[in-house]
Amino acid sequence: MKRNIVFSFLFLGLITIYGQDKQAIKFAKTIKEKDLESYLSVLSADSLEGRETGEPGQKKAAQFIAAKFESFGLQPVVETPSGFSFFQTYPLNKRNYVTAYMKKGSEQKQNFEDFLMYSNSETIGEEYADILFLGVKTIDQLKNMDLSGKFVAFNSPELHDWKRVTQGVKELDAEGVMVIINNQQYFRYLIGFYKKRLSKSKLALESANEPKIIFGDPALAEWIFDLGYDSLRASGVGNKARVIINSDQLVEEIIAENVLGYIEGTEKPEEVLVITSHYDHLGIDEKGEIYNGADDDGSGTSTVLEIAQAFAIAAEKGYRPERSILFMTVSGEEKGLLGSEYYANHPVFPIENTVTNLNADMVGRIDPIHEIEPDYIYLIGSDKLSSELHEISEKVNKTYTKLALDYTYNAEDDPNRYYYRSDHYNFAEKGVPVIFYFNGSHDDYHRPTDTIDKIEFGLMKKRAQLIFYTAWELANRENRVKVDEK
Ligand SMILES: [Zn+2]
Repeated sequence: MKRNIVFSFLFLGLITIYGQDKQAIKFAKTIKEKDLESYLSVLSADSLEGRETGEPGQKKAAQFIAAKFESFGLQPVVETPSGFSFFQTYPLNKRNYVTAYMKKGSEQKQNFEDFLMYSNSETIGEEYADILFLGVKTIDQLKNMDLSGKFVAFNSPELHDWKRVTQGVKELDAEGVMVIINNQQYFRYLIGFYKKRLSKSKLALESANEPKIIFGDPALAEWIFDLGYDSLRASGVGNKARVIINSDQLVEEIIAENVLGYIEGTEKPEEVLVITSHYDHLGIDEKGEIYNGADDDGSGTSTVLEIAQAFAIAAEKGYRPERSILFMTVSGEEKGLLGSEYYANHPVFPIENTVTNLNADMVGRIDPIHEIEPDYIYLIGSDKLSSELHEISEKVNKTYTKLALDYTYNAEDDPNRYYYRSDHYNFAEKGVPVIFYFNGSHDDYHRPTDTIDKIEFGLMKKRAQLIFYTAWELANRENRVKVDEK
C-alpha cells in the first residue's frame, strides 16, 4: 500500500513535469518555415547592403522589423517627444584615425608602427604627457590606486585575458594608460590586427572620460624612460618621463537604432522577459562584396519576428502571457555589442524587473560537427546565473522540441569565449539570467558567402519553437526564475 502511494505520487509528479500545455502547442504551430524564409529573404537581400550599423541598409532593416512588429499588433514603448516609437535611437561616434605620434626632442614614434593608439580619445594638437612607470600591475591593483590626472605605464600579467585588460583600463580614472607588452610576436599581431580594423573607421558609444590607451613594447619603454628595459623593470618603478602625444581623429556623430516591440502581460506586467537578436551585420567591403549575414544574424532576427507573431496571435485569441515580453532586435553588435550595451544602460523597463534574456544569434545553420545528427542547438549561459533557468530550459526541450542541447561552448574554459561575444552578455553583466542560442561556427562565418540558400529552415523552425516554448513557460509560470546566490 505504502509503496503504491509513493508510486502514484511519483507518477503525478511526472505528469506535471512532462505534461504538455495545449495552448502552447497550438501557438507554437504558428511558427512556420515559410514565414521565417520570407523575413530572411528581405533581411539578407543585397538591397540591404549587409546592414552595417549607421549605414542605409541598417535603417532599411530597422524599418522592415518595425513594420512587422506593428502589423502583428505589438506595442511601441520607447517614449519620444512625438509619442511612442518602435525605435530606441542612440548616438555613436564614428572615428577615423588620421595620424597619431609621440615625440621626444626631435625623435618621433608612429602609431601602428612603434605603438598602438587604442582608445577613442583624441588630443587637441600636441599635448604633454608625464608618464609614470608602475611596473607589473593587475587591473584590480590599478583600480585600487588613485590615478586621477595621471598617465601611467605598466606591464600586465593578464594579457591572456585581452577583454579583461582592455575593458579594465577603460574603466580606470586615469588621464592615460600605457600597457607594455613584452611578447614581441603578440605586440606585432595586435598592431597588424588593429591597423586593419581601425583603418576604415571605428564606431563607439560616446563615453565621458575614457583614458587615452596606448599599447607599446619594451623598445618604446626604453625610448620613453631613457633606460634599458631590464633596469627599468628591476628598479624603475616610480620613474617619470615627459613625451608629447598627438592623436588626430575625425569624429562624426551618427545615430543607430534598436527596434523594440512589446506585449504587456496580464498578471505581472511589470516583470519583463526580453527576447533578442542583432539585425546589423558587416556591410560591404572595399571590393564591393556584400556581407548578407543570412545566418549572422538574419536567422536570429527572423526567429524573433516569428516568435513575436506567435505571442501576438495568442494574445489576440485570449492567451496573453502573464508577464510582459519585450522583443528587441539590436544594432551595433558587430561593432562590439553596442546596441545591447546601450539598452542595458538605458533600459525602457527597469533591469531589476527584467526576468530573463533569451538571445538568438546564428540559429539557421548546421556546423560541421553535427552534420550526421543535425537536430541540435548549442546553449550557452543557461546555468551561469540561475540553475532554475537551466532546469526549465531542459524540461521544456524534453517536453516539446526534443533537440540535442549541446553545452560544449558553455564550458568555463572554452577558448572561443562565446558567452562574452553576443548581446545577452550585456544583460548577464547586470545580473539578468540569460540563454544564448547558437548553431556554432562554419566556413561562411563573417564572409560574403553567409547567404540564405545555406539556411536550414526546417531546423530553424524547431529552434524557434524551443525558444517560444521556453519563453511561454518563463512568462506564464508562477514565480520568476531565481538568481542563484553566489
Ligand atoms: Zn552575430
